[in-house]
Amino acid sequence: MNKPESFFQVLNNLEEPFFVLDDNLNIVNISPNAKTILNIDKEVKGLNDIFDESNINKLKKSCSIVKNIQKTNFHVHIHQQKILLKSSLINLDGKPHDLILIKDNHLFESELKLTNCIFKISEASHYVDNLDELYSIIHKILSRVVYTKNFYIAIVDNKNDVIHFPYFIDENDPKPNSRKISNGLTEYVCKTGESILVNPEQNDSFIKNKKMNINGSKSIDWLGVPLKNTLNETFGALVVQSYDKNIRFTEKDQNILEFVSHQIAMAIKRKMDRQEIERKAYYDQTTGLTNKLLFNDRLEQSMHDAKRHNTRTAILFLDLDNFKYVNDTMGHSAGDKLLKIVSKRLKASLRKTDTIARWGGDEFTVILPKIKNTNDIRTLCKRILNEDLTNVVVDNKELRITASIGIAIYPEDGLDIETLTKNADTAMYKAKDSGKNQYKFFKPLMNKEITERFSNESNLFKAIEKQEFLLLFQPQIDLKTNEITGFESLVRWNSPEKGILPPYQFIPIAEETDLIIPLGEWILRETCKQNKIWYEKGHRLTCAVNISAKQFLKYNLADIVKNILNETGLDPKFLELELTETILMRDIEKTIRVLKRLKEMGVKISIDDFGTGYSSLSYLKQFPIDTLKIDQSFISSINNDLADDNLTIANIVIDLGHKLGLKVIAEGVETEKQVEFLKKYACDKIQGYLISEPVNEIEFNLLLK
Ligand code: C2E
Ligand code: CA
Ligand code: CA
Repeated sequence: MNKPESFFQVLNNLEEPFFVLDDNLNIVNISPNAKTILNIDKEVKGLNDIFDESNINKLKKSCSIVKNIQKTNFHVHIHQQKILLKSSLINLDGKPHDLILIKDNHLFESELKLTNCIFKISEASHYVDNLDELYSIIHKILSRVVYTKNFYIAIVDNKNDVIHFPYFIDENDPKPNSRKISNGLTEYVCKTGESILVNPEQNDSFIKNKKMNINGSKSIDWLGVPLKNTLNETFGALVVQSYDKNIRFTEKDQNILEFVSHQIAMAIKRKMDRQEIERKAYYDQTTGLTNKLLFNDRLEQSMHDAKRHNTRTAILFLDLDNFKYVNDTMGHSAGDKLLKIVSKRLKASLRKTDTIARWGGDEFTVILPKIKNTNDIRTLCKRILNEDLTNVVVDNKELRITASIGIAIYPEDGLDIETLTKNADTAMYKAKDSGKNQYKFFKPLMNKEITERFSNESNLFKAIEKQEFLLLFQPQIDLKTNEITGFESLVRWNSPEKGILPPYQFIPIAEETDLIIPLGEWILRETCKQNKIWYEKGHRLTCAVNISAKQFLKYNLADIVKNILNETGLDPKFLELELTETILMRDIEKTIRVLKRLKEMGVKISIDDFGTGYSSLSYLKQFPIDTLKIDQSFISSINNDLADDNLTIANIVIDLGHKLGLKVIAEGVETEKQVEFLKKYACDKIQGYLISEPVNEIEFNLLLK
């Protein structure tokens, strides 16, 4: 660029306020806009025609031509206003000059705000999970650059000729339902792909001429901009309104919205496409319900949660009794309509946390997490059969729909997805066999046998008396000495009908019915008794007893422990209570109180399944604990390659425990490799099948030898 005049011309056309200095800091050109901003109306020759001394000094120190650098920015002050100058070296007529662009501070800041706004939107589109959240974040971000008290986003579905309002915040109107595309202002923006600002001055004529309808309350200013995809097709609109005659939108607001709408459109489109892909992969196209794939996923999650929190999850298998008839006589489309209606009604009957899926054909499956008792399931099934399926009208024909439902419950009816669904399916077939239109529980073990057996405390005491419960002992060894230093006591129920049952089949029920209190007391007493016997024989063992949430939170655990220690004569230091993080975190103050009392008695405390719950480190420090028990899932994940084991959870926990002055024990140790690892990281003790499975008293005696 060596024709100065044409260069200045171009810059002038860009409306950028600027002036140009030569290497003696003489002003060779100043644009009209610069004069306006700087408030000068005379001819300008030198810097002192524009600036005061302090600014001139600043310039002499800072500008590119003085510093001999390509580009630099600095501020000057004019009439107490901070103004940004962007100075860059340019070549004019073969000589270096300094082009200085004047950035009005106010302008500069709003530009910065806009850039920031765009950046924030783009960022949100990456971290936000769902569209609703994205919309509200967009709203929040936009509120920093325009007035958004009344703000909505409309999305058009041209295929179905419908316009949706997924996000709608308005001081006068409620969120409208989706509607057929009509002659509204929003539709105008969507159809033409143009932004419009409708104000009272033009509102009436515009609306009259274009034959528009006004939907909702009439605003003073209505400003809508289109949302366009990358093919420049409009798929929606973004609208702000003002009902306040003191708050008016201007062309500037329109420009701002247009400017950011591109980024917003991209963010929304990206999320919409994602959702569409997920919908296709995980949802049934006819009914919109979860499909088998997602159902299995959810069931797995739900089983996992149930295991962790000792709750139960029920699954229902529902099959329409006469669907085939409808399909055959009224056609497939009628069949599809029926499925849609049934899906909708079933869904409405469920809680938010429940999952309903279309399993295939006319089969539906439902997950009911955290069920409290079987009566709730009965009530639900009755409602489904007697209310949800009646009065179904398809193609003007009233149909009598019935269904058969089978129910299976985790964990008693199966520990994996396959078994559970298979068992629910079996139960469903039983319901069909027994005459349809009814529900059946699979193997009514939980609800008949166990609950009935334990239905009152005296029955449970009878079971204890009849010695139907027994304890197994699993040794714990010290990794330094390789000696057995203690054991965990684990309960079993020897059911007359079912044989030996593991704890997950009856502990949850005992907890739910509060029968865990007498049962837990029995376990504690028997364990202490047994440990005292071993003590007399010369063994110094710490016995670990699992304490359930109910025992810890609802009852005077400390008193019970004290009595039992007195009764059995066991030295308190040989008793360790195992509590989970979840139990401890539930009521911090109470936890500290109870733990302190136990501590004063000399009883030890261990945190069971450590790492699977949610404990806060700061509380952990406050609790008087002795041992962290690393959950077996972290032990089983110790991989064989000891080279890159540095970041496994196991060694983090070991480290953490030691820093807190605690002993660390690893449970579920099954391989020599794991032992090697644990030794390397100085874990104190181990427990697991590698040493021994939980065994009875006689076998434990052999281990002690
Ligand atoms: P927990 O306290 O985490 O007990 C450890 C479980 O891991 C025991 O299962 C034990 O048999 C098993 N186990 C031990 N070593 C290994 C190993 O090397 N590999 C694998 N895969 N497993 C190992 P169990 O006896 O079925 O107990 C399950 C859960 O039932 C216990 O988990 C505990 O939460 C509860 N429980 C057991 N006994 C009692 C009790 O007396 N009172 C209460 N409230 N809960 C109990
Ligand atoms: Ca335990
Ligand atoms: Ca455990």
